[in-house]
Amino acid sequence: MYKTIVVGTGPAGLTAAIYLARANLQPLVIEGPEPGGQLTTTTEVENFPGFPDGIMGPELMDQMRKQAERFGAQFQRGWVTKVNFSKRPFKLTVDGLGELESETVILSTGASAKLLGIPNEKESIGRGVSTCATCDGFFFRGKKIIVVGGGDSAMEEANFLTRFASEVRVVHRRNELRASKIMQDRARANKKIVWSLNRTPLEVVTGDNGGVKGLKVRNNETGAEEILETDGIFVAIGHKPNTDFLEGQVETDELGYIVVKPGTSMTSVPGVFACGDVQDNKYRQAITAAGSGCMAALDCEKFLEGNMVHDWSQTLNS
Ligand code: NAP
Repeated sequence: MYKTIVVGTGPAGLTAAIYLARANLQPLVIEGPEPGGQLTTTTEVENFPGFPDGIMGPELMDQMRKQAERFGAQFQRGWVTKVNFSKRPFKLTVDGLGELESETVILSTGASAKLLGIPNEKESIGRGVSTCATCDGFFFRGKKIIVVGGGDSAMEEANFLTRFASEVRVVHRRNELRASKIMQDRARANKKIVWSLNRTPLEVVTGDNGGVKGLKVRNNETGAEEILETDGIFVAIGHKPNTDFLEGQVETDELGYIVVKPGTSMTSVPGVFACGDVQDNKYRQAITAAGSGCMAALDCEKFLEGNMVHDWSQTLNS
């Protein structure tokens, strides 16, 4: 039995853990398969306040984790497969840890980059396929790159990648881009960007050494298939919030993001709070995630005041 369990260890979850631990609530923090979250797949973070010379993403997350541990947060590796939020104490089934009970839960499971789901794509991640231009662009100096997608992310990544690449080809499945006009205009004005619109990606083509050689696409107008030669493929088709394990027990929007009461971290279930990218489709920054983690911890602390279902006086270390 815990007073609070934090699920997820990105900037939101870790900030919540720091605040909860300092409030003496002894949080259990469950680390999933990507401890530290999306920032651990980034190189330098230049816009997190307090680091005028920048800080490496993994180092920033490591520092936040140490800060939470210093105040008594406990960390356990595990994968939450099931939750029961029908009544308190809430129940969480965690692979490797069994069934846990908690007075409150903070959901900070973040969002994951979507993949195309085509042959050789997953296998080539880290060998020429990437979902993060800021992390991997540097490795493609002077090379040809494809960016897949027609939204703001794709335009932003394409523009960013022209700093390194000799050519960036945007491949999009329709003739019209989804991106905002300003982002489209910026990309169209960039001489290093070329366009393959109305093309559906079919397969990542790899060479003898396993590296990426091209992207097989179908021309949606003619139906013809062709291979676009490239050294790297950046998939920029959006993100998916990690909320499947909730099985609808907490209200989500049509994209699966958790709905919180505006200006708070409160979900549709009293005692369950959400912070970070799992409830934010708009800002999605490390600093906004961290801020919302602080909000969740304060909301949780307030909720627990005089609202415990377990008799903690009988529990050691209460
Ligand atoms: P998005 O707007 O959902 O765009 C995703 C793009 O990927 C769409 O063009 C979509 O094609 C394409 N796509 C999706 N699934 C696909 C598939 N299976 N195969 C091929 N193509 C596929 O996602 P986003 O670009 O990540 O943007 C998300 C939100 O963040 C937006 O609100 C955006 O404005 C915002 N954002 C803003 C900025 C900025 O202002 N600086 C930067 C990045 C993101 P269709 O168009 O055919 O559906």
